[in-house]
Amino acid sequence: MENEAKKLTDLKKVSLNGKSSRFPGFYKHDLSFRLDLLEQWYPLTTKEKWMLKRETLTPELADVMVENAIGVFSLPLGVAVNLKLNDRDYIVPMAVEESSVIAALSNSARLIRDHGKITAEATEPIMFSQVQLVDVKNPQKAKKRILAKKEDLLRVANEQDPVLVELGGGAKDIEVRIIDSLSGPMVIVHIIVDCRDAMGANVVNTMAETLAPILAELAEGDAICKIVSNLSDRRMVHVRMEVAVEALARAGFSGEEAANRIVKAYHFAEADPYRAATHNKGIMNGIDPILIATGNDWRACEAGAHAYAARSGKYKPLSRFYRDDSGKLIGEMDIPLALGIVGGVTSIHPGVKILLKLMKVNSSKQLAELAAAAGLLQNFTAVWTLATEGIQKGHMTLHARNVAVFAGAIGEMAIKVANQMAHEGRVRYDRAKQILKSLLIREKEEQEHQKK
Ligand code: NAD
Repeated sequence: MENEAKKLTDLKKVSLNGKSSRFPGFYKHDLSFRLDLLEQWYPLTTKEKWMLKRETLTPELADVMVENAIGVFSLPLGVAVNLKLNDRDYIVPMAVEESSVIAALSNSARLIRDHGKITAEATEPIMFSQVQLVDVKNPQKAKKRILAKKEDLLRVANEQDPVLVELGGGAKDIEVRIIDSLSGPMVIVHIIVDCRDAMGANVVNTMAETLAPILAELAEGDAICKIVSNLSDRRMVHVRMEVAVEALARAGFSGEEAANRIVKAYHFAEADPYRAATHNKGIMNGIDPILIATGNDWRACEAGAHAYAARSGKYKPLSRFYRDDSGKLIGEMDIPLALGIVGGVTSIHPGVKILLKLMKVNSSKQLAELAAAAGLLQNFTAVWTLATEGIQKGHMTLHARNVAVFAGAIGEMAIKVANQMAHEGRVRYDRAKQILKSLLIREKEEQEHQKK
């Protein structure tokens, strides 16, 4: 006990009074000890630590949040450490079932911290909703009439959300498009809204529904859909990482070779949508767990990211890798991310409230920058691994524990079975069963031997 306390005091000295997210060997400790260590970064209360460990969402609250609730559903929650973005340290909470995601982010964050840098910049939090006008007799004239009333329309839209307007947000512009469709030409009105720190879907939907009858009258047509666009391409994050190639040496490849293989792996994704889909999945591996942990609408962001990836008419990778003039490896990405730190579930879920404090983010833009950086780093690690030692070695070592549990092993036994499979390089359900059976027989024999 005394030793543990001393170990904790020594380890806490490592991180600089809550300013550094560099926690060497964080993964080596047990879960409770990691929570204790995090106190150095952010002063979690005993209750908050208990909640993160056991229960952040009560059945009573779940019952308020959705219809027909029958309980709450859990996922592993971890934190990626070591990240320094825009010269500022971050601890990144991730709720995710896939082994290797959190480790990959912590490792790549450490690599970039030591041998490169990563920066991100989000645009203003601009969302828009669409009002679909059909059976419009003269679309061009309707467009002119609507645009002539722009100021009045914006005033009515802003009356719907005085809080947002007070915060400097609100409806800023009206745009009109005429599109061809299977049922002839349609007039589509975009209501452009600055959503500040909210994701904004409800905000813009309310404005669209309020304006729809006025727009239908102006257009002399009928309004059908009034809804946010999830292709939120005015709410973008640009993220850029650079790393010295010497740091990329791995699995018998020099840094130079590894960097060139990474670039060629990206060229594969650029040329082939089958690979691009998996490339982009690797990006969302870093982003979705943050969105889940912060109560954000990950379906909305997934839809936006993939629609943006296909904006040219051909599905493309969201990130790109190249060597700059000095030889460094550069990774860049532009991605739409509509995230909130207020509104939706973010303001209700007790776990989200704790985790947002732990992340120390103060705006929706900052959260989007962080999520985009996590996405690019996750993607970089995956491509680096793919281009060098291959994905299965590391992935399967971590996945082995899941396979061991699936085969019926529990606790210490699951770790023994997993280690044995990883050692043999055969992570398979049937092999897990065999190893478990022989370990259980050996354990029983030892117990009987001790009795004698
Ligand atoms: P919301 O309506 O719960 O909260 C937004 C409101 O918070 C604003 O209207 C504003 O009045 C207030 N607010 C207080 N402080 C603020 C600040 N600093 N910045 C901005 N607003 C502030 O939430 P929302 O963000 O409009 O909607 C998000 C929810 O909508 C998510 O749960 C999402 O799942 C859901 N949704 C999504 C879709 C879609 O993506 N297609 C469709 C419908 C609903």
